[in-house]
Amino acid sequence: STNIIAIVGRPNVGKSTLFNRLIGQRKAIMDNESGVTRDRSYGHGDWTGKYFTVIDTGGYVHGSEDIFEGEINKQVELAINEADVILFMVDVDAGVTSLDEEFANVLRRTDKPIYIVANKADTNARAHQMGEFYALGVGDEIFPVSSQNGSGTGDLLDAVVKHF
Ligand code: GDP
Ligand code: MG
Repeated sequence: STNIIAIVGRPNVGKSTLFNRLIGQRKAIMDNESGVTRDRSYGHGDWTGKYFTVIDTGGYVHGSEDIFEGEINKQVELAINEADVILFMVDVDAGVTSLDEEFANVLRRTDKPIYIVANKADTNARAHQMGEFYALGVGDEIFPVSSQNGSGTGDLLDAVVKHF
């Protein structure tokens, strides 16, 4: 099997930070060939002896919070078409936003495994805020993680690699 993980979510939730953590010291491969493949990066990683490819979607304009319906659809379609497991990333500090809800609505189209990654759970207090994301109504499970300090990422990967 191909073992592909795609990370999706609105800008600034921490997708690229998690991507970099998952690929470690390995190099990301940029694919900027066409409008559809714009700004996606591929990298390779492994966890408990299982190898995977991870796709970081949605480079957009650096630092921009702007994102449009077309972009959401493209990003999620890519994930749905190519991934074996989808990581839907949200920000526990920001809570549920309308853009998160737009992503959730598009993600409902697939039966592929989806895990909500409740990122920026740097402290236990913040991790407890993950409960509000059940309201999004998608995802098989929610994992509080801090992509910045690494906490929770092991539990997330344990669940992900069970599909590989
Ligand atoms: P992306 O737009 O979804 O790819 O998000 P980035 O990975 O570029 O991160 C956006 C911002 O959130 C950056 O300033 C990161 O340093 C910050 N960030 C990412 N992960 C965490 C985290 O776990 N905790 C905190 N506090 N900040 C984070
Ligand atoms: Mg990014």
